[in-house]
Parts: sequence; structure tokens; C-alpha cells
Amino acid sequence: MEVICACCGRIFIRSPRNKNQSYCSRPECQRKRKTLWQKKKMASDQSYRLNHKTSQQEWIRNNPGYWKKYRKRKPDKAKRNRELQIIRNRRKRNPSLIAKMDASGARRFQPEGTFYLIPMIAKMDAIIVSMFSDNKELPVIAKKDSISSNASLI
Ligand SMILES: [Zn+2]
Repeated sequence: MEVICACCGRIFIRSPRNKNQSYCSRPECQRKRKTLWQKKKMASDQSYRLNHKTSQQEWIRNNPGYWKKYRKRKPDKAKRNRELQIIRNRRKRNPSLIAKMDASGARRFQPEGTFYLIPMIAKMDAIIVSMFSDNKELPVIAKKDSISSNASLI
């Protein structure tokens, strides 16, 4: 039976042994399927989560210095992780600071007007940004970068 892959959208023939197959056999689609499965399992199964953590700790014990070498080998990744850790720490300390908007709130949010972009990571000055809607004819004063097709910086 021919079905559409839930990842890449290509048509593939479902395996007769797997009646619920919704991902094709391409490695990236299988990787996506496995990632989603594991994410779901980690969220729902406490013993799986505990087992995962234990085996990770065991691996770290058996491979001393791996992460130190990794950070030395890939300084850009180490820098990115340090920056993300600052955000994770802030989120942990004050969850309301970086709260997720619910879907209904997101619909009411109209990103038009003048805003201050305040960097959370580095100590930098705020950037003033004016955002305009696509359907209104407003002059674009100066375009800097390509943050968004309907946003311009002044
Ligand atoms: Zn696919």
C-alpha cells in the first residue's frame, strides 16, 4: 500500500510487516521517527528516563575527559552551549521571564509598532526596531540584515 511519509512527504510502499508505518526508509526520516519516539518516551516513561540517565552517567564514567576534549575540538559548539545554558538557568530561576505564549494569546499579538530588542545573553545596548504589517503601505526607512521580510530596523 502506498502512503505519504510523515517526514519528507514522499510516497513510499508500506512494509507488509508494519501496518502502521508512516515514515519511509530514508535515514533522515527514520532518524526523525526515532527522535520523536524517544522524546515521547522520555516525557511519559519514568523508568525509561531513569535508565537513560543511568546509562549516560555510566558512559561518562567509562570515557573520562571526552567532553573536555569535545569542547576543545569544537569551540563554537562550546560557546553556543554556554550561551544556551545562561538562558536555561534564567528560565529555571524565573520561568515567567521566558514564558511560552498559548495559542490564543499568540493570535491576539500584533507585532506592529516600535519595540526594543534587549539581548538576554550578552551585555549589549537595546536595539530599537519598528515592525510593520505586510498589508499596510509604510515606508521602509532602512533595512538591516534580513530578520524578516516585514520588519525593518531604524
Ligand atoms: Zn521520508
